[in-house]
Amino acid sequence: MSETNKKKGHCIALFSGGLDSALAVLLMLQQDIEVTALTFMTHFGCDLGDRSSCGSNPYPAAEKFGFNVKLMHLGQKFVDIIEKPKYGYGKNMNPCIDCRILMLEEAKNLMEMVEADFIITGEVMGQRPMSQVKHKLHLVENVTGLKGKLLRPLSAKLLDPTDAELNGMLDREKLEGISGRGRYRQIELAKEFGLDDYPNPASGCLLTDESYSIRLRDLLKHSGRLTFEDLNMLRIGRHFRLDSNTKVIVGRDENENNQLEAYKKPHYGHVEAIGIGSPVSLVIGDCSDENLEKAAMITARFTSAKKEPTVDITLISKESQPILTVPPAKDEDLKFIQLR
Ligand code: SF4
Repeated sequence: MSETNKKKGHCIALFSGGLDSALAVLLMLQQDIEVTALTFMTHFGCDLGDRSSCGSNPYPAAEKFGFNVKLMHLGQKFVDIIEKPKYGYGKNMNPCIDCRILMLEEAKNLMEMVEADFIITGEVMGQRPMSQVKHKLHLVENVTGLKGKLLRPLSAKLLDPTDAELNGMLDREKLEGISGRGRYRQIELAKEFGLDDYPNPASGCLLTDESYSIRLRDLLKHSGRLTFEDLNMLRIGRHFRLDSNTKVIVGRDENENNQLEAYKKPHYGHVEAIGIGSPVSLVIGDCSDENLEKAAMITARFTSAKKEPTVDITLISKESQPILTVPPAKDEDLKFIQLR
């Protein structure tokens, strides 16, 4: 514990801004423990303004209840575990156990740096199938070397006592024994603490999304390594795999069209119907005449002229900008190549 700290102890909290992690923090403040909350960001939706996030803005609760928040971007470290998770993926491409380990390792570094006493998380035993069953909670604890230093205040009474409980810094009786997916006790606690503004439970980050995971799996299979730009592009538009080297991305609205324009590179094919409502389509990979024609047919399917027998599509990336007159692709054909 730092010398300037007049509290009973100091903990680092893994803090998503959601209900459970907020309650874990409040249970510590209630016992006169200083809390430094650590909020992680990744490229997969766990950032503050992202509605697909498994977290939410940490600052309102921090201001209301009086604790510090530190933001940390996991960047490439997180991408590395997605490429090769030691403990595998969950139902989709979510490597939750590796992710928890990474977050706890970062929290452990901070704990050692600021001489805090222990780490807390808002985990509830049995709430999430992959990472919050008892033996997985133990596994994470052992791998990170945090045995005795990792407290889950919401399920503490169901788990072995931590050092802070054994040495009297914390009163175990004031901790909780919650398990399972229900939120009854959490809502009751929120009322007791005056915590009235918390988000609905989220299913997890973008990696738990089936459709995003299909695209990500495809990207890993065909390109091996993941770049931030590739990962960001997976969030935009409809994706079609033409062959092992080539993909077509078709914008779904003006915002996505603008984003695709921004990601455009000189070696990408750019296909669009000029003069009618049309998506922007990018061809990434082999921009052969055959693939550009396929991209033109796919694009035609999503123009305002999709019911016409043929549509004029401009190959903007070709210097001469030739116009191809093509029939719109048929939905029954697209379903075999669309990544969704
Ligand atoms: S859903 Fe899983 S992989 Fe995604 S941020 Fe949460 S713990 Fe990590």
